[in-house]
Amino acid sequence: MRRKKEFDPHLARLEMVRNQIARRGFDDERLLTALGRVPRHDYVPPEQVEHAYRDGPLSIGQGQTISQPYIVAYMTNELALKGTERILEIGTGSGYQTAILAELAGEVFTVEVIDELGQRARAQLKKAGYENISFRIGDGRIGWPEQAPFDGIIVTAAAERSPVELPFQLKEGASMIIPVGGGMQTLESVTRRGERFDRKSLISVRFVPLV
Ligand code: SAH
Repeated sequence: MRRKKEFDPHLARLEMVRNQIARRGFDDERLLTALGRVPRHDYVPPEQVEHAYRDGPLSIGQGQTISQPYIVAYMTNELALKGTERILEIGTGSGYQTAILAELAGEVFTVEVIDELGQRARAQLKKAGYENISFRIGDGRIGWPEQAPFDGIIVTAAAERSPVELPFQLKEGASMIIPVGGGMQTLESVTRRGERFDRKSLISVRFVPLV
């Protein structure tokens, strides 16, 4: 009788980076290193641990999901982080994307509307030792005006329409990455040019809606 292969998170993570991320064309060494370092299986519910490195989203409870690793890589890559940026994230969820941002940026401000998810993510990220993350429970659609302006904004739940006010919390030349649409959605990049904004459509995505 053959025994089930033992789950090896380290190996699974290396395979994830190679097969799902590098193979799809991402070559930013800092991004690949961050994805290789953050233990994604610490950010999923116990029953999902062995699936944590799959090429897809997973349920994290409360009807919410942790995004597919490729999508986390894609959105993060769009911000082209160098290490000093102040980033706003809307939709903390599992905290996995937050951890990747905390590895790659200077400071992360993250907002979650569901108290239980926000608390759980905060506990996990503290346990992981991050000291450059600020947490808020509340409606992220208004952003975080007291901490604005930001060098980048990532929204990890879909807006029906591209927000009009939120991009004013960006610094000049900075971008917001956000899924827009109902049902089928498009990932948009919105870049500040003075009082105007350049909107660019990136890829088709499927996120849970903003509430
Ligand atoms: N980046 C997360 C994605 C979680 S799914 C991850 O990979 O784990 C989207 C998250 O956005 C959910 O946790 C949901 O509760 C949260 N959300 C939805 N509407 C929101 C709002 N208006 N303000 C803040 N967070 C919101």
